[in-house]
Amino acid sequence: MKAKVKKDTCIGCGACTTIADQIFQIGDDGLAEVINPTEAEKVQEIPEEERENVMDAAESCPTGAIEVIE
Ligand code: SF4
Repeated sequence: MKAKVKKDTCIGCGACTTIADQIFQIGDDGLAEVINPTEAEKVQEIPEEERENVMDAAESCPTGAIEVIE
């Protein structure tokens, strides 16, 4: 499972950084991003123990900006 933030959709509300604070952070541009992305496309491989938090964050995002890739 991987996750990324679609910057063009994110409004920087910070919900995901509260729900999954080990995965998402607010970047210098005021928008969310994954912490320590493993690929150039800013995708992060999600550890097993964070999967539920990431799913919660994706469902809670008001603009649907979190993309989860199975
Ligand atoms: S919850 Fe969605 S809109 Fe809010 S900061 Fe995270 S990705 Fe952006």
